[in-house]
Amino acid sequence: MKFADSHCHLTDSSFDSDRESVLERAREAPVACIVTIASDEADALEALDLACEHDDVWCSAGVHPHAVGSAGSKAELGTIRDIASHRRCVAIGETGLDYYYDNAPRAAQRRSFARHATLAGQAGLPLVVHSRSAEEDTAAVLRECAGAVQGVLHCFTGSAALMELAMEVGWYVSFTGIATFKSFDAELARMVRSDRYMIETDSPYLAPVPKRGRRNEPGLVVHVAAALARMRGESLETVAADTLRNTERFFGLAADGPSA
Ligand SMILES: [Zn+2]
Repeated sequence: MKFADSHCHLTDSSFDSDRESVLERAREAPVACIVTIASDEADALEALDLACEHDDVWCSAGVHPHAVGSAGSKAELGTIRDIASHRRCVAIGETGLDYYYDNAPRAAQRRSFARHATLAGQAGLPLVVHSRSAEEDTAAVLRECAGAVQGVLHCFTGSAALMELAMEVGWYVSFTGIATFKSFDAELARMVRSDRYMIETDSPYLAPVPKRGRRNEPGLVVHVAAALARMRGESLETVAADTLRNTERFFGLAADGPSA
């Protein structure tokens, strides 16, 4: 049995003192592939370095909605475009809309999201999307992208309607440690198609029960899989195999991945 962590932030400074041990523990879990997700240009360069140094790590390139400049400027995507052409970069993002924190003006977030989607289409890469308190505008982008770009709604905690739309337009959803919390809507786990969902840690954030409140790391994705298995009434083996296969397919990892 092998697992995939489809979304984490290995470049985070909280891993600076023990990043290699974190990766070792992930391999023991065993996590076969890890996608480290970039939050801005500088971070994307660091993520690419990590992906080049480790056979079981891949990266994305993008500017998080929290980090979008006030103009949502075009120039922002210059470096992102360059990194996206590298074979270890397997996605554009994370991008999206966060109307909960509103760290950047909403219009700028929407412009940046649209530019990331265009870039994903041009680069032939999938889109990693963060959406919080912005369902309506996220749904609008999904409808616009339908057929042209495939994406994942990461850390999915949205409505059943948004999940249905995602399934309808060929997108994926991904679940974090939030799926291990009592507050999580188990119906979302039951209704998702087995060929369209992934699991992730979003580490160092969102540590799953029983590690809630501590620093999270890719090896703990196993707890997310166990929660999904319970809610779906499936074996851990089934959830592990389905989500690993989905992660490899979505990011196109199988061609040169260690689990191919
Ligand atoms: Zn993230």
